[in-house]
This record gives sequence, C-alpha cells and structure tokens, in this order.
Amino acid sequence: MAEDNVGRIVGGKLVRPKRQLAMVFDLNKCLGCQTCTIACKTLWTREEGMEHMWWATVNTMPGRGTPRDWEKMGGGFVKGASRAGKLPTNEEFGEAWQFNYDEVFYGGKGNEAHLAPQGKPPTWGPNWDEDQGGGEYPNAYYFYLPRICNHCTHPACLEACPRRAIYKRAEDGIVLIDENRCKGYRFCMEACPYKKIYFNHVRAVSQKCIFCFPRVEKGVAPACSRQCPGRLRFVGYLDDEKGPIHKLVKQWKVAVPLHEEYGTDPNVYYVPPLAPPRLDANGNVDETKPRIPADYLRSLFGPAVDRALDTLKAEMAKTRAGGKSEILDTLIVYSWPKDIFPDFAKDPATLEWTSAETAKKA
Ligand code: SF4
Ligand code: SF4
Repeated sequence: MAEDNVGRIVGGKLVRPKRQLAMVFDLNKCLGCQTCTIACKTLWTREEGMEHMWWATVNTMPGRGTPRDWEKMGGGFVKGASRAGKLPTNEEFGEAWQFNYDEVFYGGKGNEAHLAPQGKPPTWGPNWDEDQGGGEYPNAYYFYLPRICNHCTHPACLEACPRRAIYKRAEDGIVLIDENRCKGYRFCMEACPYKKIYFNHVRAVSQKCIFCFPRVEKGVAPACSRQCPGRLRFVGYLDDEKGPIHKLVKQWKVAVPLHEEYGTDPNVYYVPPLAPPRLDANGNVDETKPRIPADYLRSLFGPAVDRALDTLKAEMAKTRAGGKSEILDTLIVYSWPKDIFPDFAKDPATLEWTSAETAKKA
C-alpha cells in the first residue's frame, strides 16, 4: 500500500506524504530560555526510562551540542546511499543527573544547602556548553540553536528499521515510532544524522519527538511552539501558500534547513542569525566582514544561507529608510497566535479532552 511506504524509496522514487507539516525557527529571536525544552519534557518524557530524554533541545553555537559532537556521528544518506552512523553513548547524551531536592526543599536547610548534582560528577549534559560560543573579544559571538526531530521527508531512521516500526503519516508527514513493533535494535539511532532518537532502557524501545500529534489533530500547536516566549517557532503546512511557513521557506527563502547535506530532507527550517557588527582594533564598527564567520554559517545551513542573510539585511535597510517589509512583519509576529501557527491557534484550555488526552493538553 502506498501509504505504508511514505518516506521510502519505491521503484527509484521517494513516496511523499499528501501534505507536510514543518516548523521555522527564527534564530534572531531565540533567547535560550529553554521554555520549549521544559514544555516538551513536562508533557512527554516524564515516565520511568525517559529521565535522560530531551526531545526538544536548545544548544549554544558554536558548540558540541547534544549528544556531544553529534554532527560528527554520521548517519543519513550520501547521494541516496545510507551513510554509516554511530550509536551515541549514554555519556555522550548526558545521563539524567540526580539533585539534592529533598535536602534543599524539604530538609529545612534551604538557606545553607544549594542544589547540586549528586553522586558521580556528570561529564556531559543536554546544555553543557551553554553560552560559551566562539570568536575573540571584542568580536566574540554565539547564538542558540533549538532542535527537534526534523520529521524528514526521507527519514534515515525509517529506512534503517528492519521491523518497519517507524512510519511517516500520509496526511501530515509526521514521523512516528510504533512502540509495539519496536524491538529496541536502535538502528534508527545510528541512522538518524541529527541524533534525535533516544532509547528507553526500561521499556526497551526507541522514542522521539512526535510533533505533539494529539494536539495538532485538535488544532493546537505543539507545546514547544505555543509556550515559546520568543514567539519564534512557526508551525504550518509547507504547501499552504498563505501561511508563514511557505512564505518564509519557499517564497522569500529566508529560512533554510540545517545540514541539508545529510540527505534526509528535513522539515525544520531556520532563519539564520544576524549579529552585531564587528569592531576593529580601535573599537570602531568594521563592516568589512560579519561577526559570525560566513563559512561557519555555511557549514550549518549550506550556501543558501548567504542569500537568506542578504535578503534579511536588505529588508532591514528598507524599514530603516521608512519603508515596509512583509518579511520582517511576518518574523515579528504582531498577532499571536494566529500569525505564527494559523492552523493551530486553538487554546488547549478551551477544548474537550478525553481522560487519556487530559495529561497531554498543557
Ligand atoms: S530527524 Fe532523525 S529521527 Fe527525525 S525523522 Fe529525521 S532521521 Fe528520523
Ligand atoms: S522557548 Fe523559544 S526563546 Fe526559549 S529557548 Fe525555546 S525557542 Fe528559544
């Protein structure tokens, strides 16, 4: 059946979903607050065996990220052929840290005791290199990079699963794992070049971001997007020509995928970061080259990032000269939530949820 093959190559052709949901993250607005991270954690990964899971992460760039050095772990496709990938270790993900909550919050020592990791000192964690960044004073730089599963059009995880436990929904392109079929082989974790699959050691199954599908099906945006105070996580269908996703990605081309060369055709796009101008040795503005090295941004977002940045700069110049910019107005999001996820603007508190859904509405 064609729908069983969505996301697979059949007869030399990729079977695509009828529609594809996508997100755009505007990196110029991300403040690294981790509200998205916690919204997701609170909603989906509180069960036993999920303590170490962070389906939504936000790392400082340049940085080694999570799992540590994930960009060097392989996976994905090269010219359509699978590229070998590494299985990240627990230590590279950063195991769940234990804290002295009882002592600080319930032991009556709140004034002397402070929260600190307990037991063996951790060597890595999901946000270990926060705010370190790169460059030299006075031209140091960093930016935040939120990441989730990219719900790829050609998911390497799906192709790698011998159990056909991973599938891509025909109606919206969301990639899910059928936990009843999963046998815990973890080939998907090796194959995903974004290293966005986690292993539940209690239940012996792989688990990952589900694009909040129970919310999406009711017209409610994913929790990470709805809770984001920066209002930078756009959600919508790629083919909706009136929606912000299509305009930002396809029409204006100011949002570009991360590591497109990994070959999975990811469906999360990024408006690349502009930065303050460089300063020369005398402290004067030096416009001859950007503060964030162009080569570094190209290494993340490919050559298309140059055009995206040029367009953003031109639109900024236009507004400074008194003109209007539909692109900047769209990125500003004047009217929340309808301007950022028009099809998913319903307030979850206004809907009826079954008891099984109640825990998932936050
Ligand atoms: S990002 Fe990884 S886990 Fe998500 S669909 Fe793509 S290959 Fe699969
Ligand atoms: S909630 Fe929004 S602003 Fe905060 S870290 Fe996440 S994406 Fe960035």
